[in-house]
Amino acid sequence: MFHFDGGLKLTAADLAIDFRRRQPRGFISHAHTDHMARHVLALCTPATAALYHLRCGVRQVMCLPYRQTIEWGGLRLTTFPAGHCLGSAMLLADDGETRLLYTGDFKLGPSATSETAELPQADVLVMESTFGDPKYRLPPREEVIGELIGIVRQTLERGQTPVIEAYSLGKAQEVTRILTDAGIVVLQHYEVHRVSEVYVELGMSLGNFLRLAAPLVPGKAVVVPPGRRHLPLPGVKRPVRIAVTGWAGDPSAKYRLGVDHAVPLSDHADYDDLFAAVEQVQPREVYCTHGPASFVDRLVDAGWKAFVLGRAARQTRLF
Ligand SMILES: [Zn+2]
Repeated sequence: MFHFDGGLKLTAADLAIDFRRRQPRGFISHAHTDHMARHVLALCTPATAALYHLRCGVRQVMCLPYRQTIEWGGLRLTTFPAGHCLGSAMLLADDGETRLLYTGDFKLGPSATSETAELPQADVLVMESTFGDPKYRLPPREEVIGELIGIVRQTLERGQTPVIEAYSLGKAQEVTRILTDAGIVVLQHYEVHRVSEVYVELGMSLGNFLRLAAPLVPGKAVVVPPGRRHLPLPGVKRPVRIAVTGWAGDPSAKYRLGVDHAVPLSDHADYDDLFAAVEQVQPREVYCTHGPASFVDRLVDAGWKAFVLGRAARQTRLF
């Protein structure tokens, strides 16, 4: 049903999944740049299509709204929310004998700005396992949100400017919504702002946010993409840098990232949620991508038939 050819491909439909290089037919699980390319025909959810057009220009797309099954290339294809960013989708492919679920990047539980993940049962599960190490057991979400708001408020009360570093698609909008819900006005770097405008067009309210422009008005939080550390912020004596990432589950993250605070707000499933996802899907076989190989060993130890995707697929003919 699938094979590995520099990435996951659904064999009968000749459908490349989340390829980073151009394909005749490519499924895009979400609009992060490491999951898409300028395909001849892209299959994705309507929200991902809007974000794909923003990032890659207007291109040919076949939209797959959540939970609406289509017959395509000998398969029944259905998308389900992945909880990672707006429009992010899992893909269920059914050839009549086998149900394969590809998770893409996913997160369980609520998010301020994306649909909550839904995991259907499947025979084969292909899952991302980014945080597949027990050191990435993240604190409860409410605690993390409280920590973020607390740091931002304390910084503002001291007359300093909180500068939150968050990926321009997904995390930045979630941080914005969390802060504006707490009554804090957010100024966004233009790379974040152009994505936020699409979120709003798609009906996702982000509250009171503005595009960052000089001179900076004090009393507001600033959201910038990571790597814009040296962005000039006129009028700011000393910005307080806050990274917002699941990697903050590692206590050394703050030093590695060179920030004042690292808050473990993640848009990926943490270690326990990865196991919870497998339990929920109840697959006969699990193929892992993106994570440590040791996570596969842990699944095997727990009684699952599990493989690293590329390695297993190269060694054996898959159905
Ligand atoms: Zn992603």
